[in-house]
Amino acid sequence: MICPACQKDTTRVSDSRLVGAGTSIRRRRVCKNCGHRFSTVESVELLRAQVRKRNGSLQPFDREKLLGGLRAACKRRPIPEQTLRAIIAAVERDLTRIHSLASASGTLPEINSQDIGDLVLSHLKSVDPVAYVLFASVYQGFSSVEEFERALGDAKRVSSAPA
Ligand SMILES: [Zn+2]
Repeated sequence: MICPACQKDTTRVSDSRLVGAGTSIRRRRVCKNCGHRFSTVESVELLRAQVRKRNGSLQPFDREKLLGGLRAACKRRPIPEQTLRAIIAAVERDLTRIHSLASASGTLPEINSQDIGDLVLSHLKSVDPVAYVLFASVYQGFSSVEEFERALGDAKRVSSAPA
């Protein structure tokens, strides 16, 4: 890290601590050349994108909201919170890869909400087949009982498949 006062690469970290519910780390730094003290904050890089909803409206991507939807769909299933968070993290990683979200133009990339739902499902399927169906019924909005039963049948085949 370059010293903002003397522009020399002679700074060292004197203290580090977690801030913001553990999602950021603040480092106190001191310059050995000029003695200048300053701080830096390192945070998890959030996925920044616009989500196109089924009804055509656009909303900023909100991982907490997505996690809330997944949590609600899985509330009767024995899935640890940590696993749900890991699924969301995997979905964000997939989205970043698919959409190369580093947008040079300055406008936020646009993601279809259906794509996000499909990614959640692809990760959920191997974790808990019943939760997979519950989430699918919410996010794909099954239009018929047959459609729902077909998904349930798929999930049962996955869960009864020999390991
Ligand atoms: Zn300095």
